[in-house]
Amino acid sequence: MDLESGSQKPASGETERVRCLIIGSGPAGYTAAIYMMEDFKKQAARFGTEIRFGIATDVDFTGKTRRVVIDENKFVDADTIIIATGATARYLGLEAEQKYAGMGVSACATCDGFFYKQKDVAVVGGGDTAAEEATYLAGLCNKVYLIVRRNVLRASKAMQAKVMNTPNITILWEHQAIDLYGENGVEGAVLVKKKGTPREEIVKIKIDGFFLAIGHTPNSDAFKKFIDTDEIGYIRTIPGTSKTNVPGVFAAGDVQDPHYRQAVTAAGSGCMAAIDAERYLSEISK
Ligand SMILES: Cc1cc2nc3c(=O)[nH]c(=O)nc-3n(C[C@H](O)[C@H](O)[C@H](O)COP(=O)(O)OP(=O)(O)OC[C@H]3O[C@@H](n4cnc5c(N)ncnc54)[C@H](O)[C@@H]3O)c2cc1C
Repeated sequence: MDLESGSQKPASGETERVRCLIIGSGPAGYTAAIYMMEDFKKQAARFGTEIRFGIATDVDFTGKTRRVVIDENKFVDADTIIIATGATARYLGLEAEQKYAGMGVSACATCDGFFYKQKDVAVVGGGDTAAEEATYLAGLCNKVYLIVRRNVLRASKAMQAKVMNTPNITILWEHQAIDLYGENGVEGAVLVKKKGTPREEIVKIKIDGFFLAIGHTPNSDAFKKFIDTDEIGYIRTIPGTSKTNVPGVFAAGDVQDPHYRQAVTAAGSGCMAAIDAERYLSEISK
């Protein structure tokens, strides 16, 4: 189901029957529909994929035919399903994050770090991802501030040691970002030290890039009644496959990938899901 284009069938209250339903329209979903790619969406359509608007709001995987509820009132019954709904990066919720989106604010250091070569940047977070992203950026940037809300890092001991031993990383303990400023992009961040205490103080840092590393939320809520996930919500697949705990239901891309979350790895797993679904369909038609 695609959010951007396509027809509206089935109508409210109606059920449609398909062989394979792909939920999600990112690299994983479109690759599952095609297999090679130039322009994902156009090519998926050229290979006969029907692209529709809609959100999968609920599922029923009790029967042999898998049922997906779209927008709470339309139903698609499918022999096989590929879940490719991605994961959403978490933000702090500051207005400035939206204002400077793509102009200095990023939720992916490995994707956007290159644009900040020799510049000063800040990373928000205290876990393994934040520590990893800070050390990655330290290799590219002049200076990296790591903004940590508490007075300890949640990252593993090994990652903590890496951060502490990287000379161009400065950890700002017990700081929280409350705003960003700049004319045509981020030029600095406003932080508050020891928020909520009598010793609260406002600090400004000059930076060109502001990286969020406070986690991702996998878009798996609609499937959790039937599909096994880890404690964060990433769909568990059988290692080396796209198979979930429900036969005929496969998962691809960021929704099942807590580690890499890249377009190219999502596309690779979309291809795996396409092959797994195809094999499943030929098995059940024997
Ligand atoms: C700022 C940024 C820059 C990046 N740059 C790079 C880069 O340079 N190189 C790289 O390899 N990767 C990059 N990435 C990562 C890359 O974008 C993701 O890894 C990739 O898009 C994941 O693909 P996906 O198909 O799994 O999910 P997504 O691309 O997230 O697609 C999932 C789709 O499913 C839809 N969806 C969600 N829930 C439902 C539902 N219930 N029903 C129907 N549809 C639903 C979503 O709206 C979305 O359209 C970047 C990410 C970010 C945030």
